[in-house]
Amino acid sequence: METILKVQNLKTYFYADGKEIPAVDDVSFEIKQGETLGIVGESGSGKSITSLSILSLIPKPPGKIVGGEILFKGENILTYNEKQMRELRGNKISMIFQEPMTSLNPVFTVGNQIMETLVLHQKLSKKQARLKAIEMLQLVGIPLAEKRIDEYPHQLSGGMRQRVMIAMALSCNPELLIADEPTTALDVTTQAQILELMKDLKVKLNMATLLITHDLGVVSESADRVAVMYLGRIVEYADVESFFDEPLHPYSIGLLDSIPSMYEEIDRLSPIPGQVPHPTDLRKGCRFHTRCPHAKELCRQEEPELMAVGDKKVRCWLYDERYQAEEV
Ligand code: SF4
Ligand code: MG
Repeated sequence: METILKVQNLKTYFYADGKEIPAVDDVSFEIKQGETLGIVGESGSGKSITSLSILSLIPKPPGKIVGGEILFKGENILTYNEKQMRELRGNKISMIFQEPMTSLNPVFTVGNQIMETLVLHQKLSKKQARLKAIEMLQLVGIPLAEKRIDEYPHQLSGGMRQRVMIAMALSCNPELLIADEPTTALDVTTQAQILELMKDLKVKLNMATLLITHDLGVVSESADRVAVMYLGRIVEYADVESFFDEPLHPYSIGLLDSIPSMYEEIDRLSPIPGQVPHPTDLRKGCRFHTRCPHAKELCRQEEPELMAVGDKKVRCWLYDERYQAEEV
């Protein structure tokens, strides 16, 4: 399968009060056609900044991409100007966000909003666009699409609005879909339906999908591979199956231990004890050492690289002989 997105050594930093915050720090991953990569982490881990970097939507200042490459089908899109990026967004790369009410325009019917992108990007006539919009609404499981196409966002339920957002995102046949917390704002039943829909569409449309979530349950449902982020770093990168079988990083293990509570209505993981260091103060040691039950002096002094362990990658000294050799 063709590699659609390849992110290499991406660094997106923020600058405030003369201090540097490495929000995304040397992050690499790739997504092939038909594949879903889940990026999971707490808020502040850099997962949303990663997706905004890909779309070139980082607020500058205070943010800046200071290193790395973002290759979309082999082309480094970091070199694109705003016009080229606009052409890419909503056409070859689409995005769905957490809160459909804020992304849909309340004064236009859902049909008009889907048709607008079709007329703009696919150069369809109004009549063709309306037919295609109805088809898209049917594809995402909206009943009576011919009628609902003329309704306004407030006439639809939260789940239906998210389906409309997905229809909009998919209407231009994107090759990459970026979904940032696509189910977080929804109730549990609707969440399950939307995840089911996304799985279905993935098979039907064979897109590459980047799924950003704080919810490992969503990852296990929908992703093929997973990248766990903590304070700007990828700390574990693995196939979903082997990840859930045997997570390697102490942070991943902590996240998995917190899964039962994730089905309650909470918006953060993090029952993991310990203090998260301030993001301007990450220069020494493993970024997780303040919360890790296995931290040794080595961990406090030197940051580990992302190392291969079997077919996974993990950024942790536990899997290095220097850790094994150190006295506690
Ligand atoms: Fe814990 Fe050390 Fe591994 Fe960091 S490197 S996660 S502190 S064991
Ligand atoms: Mg976010």
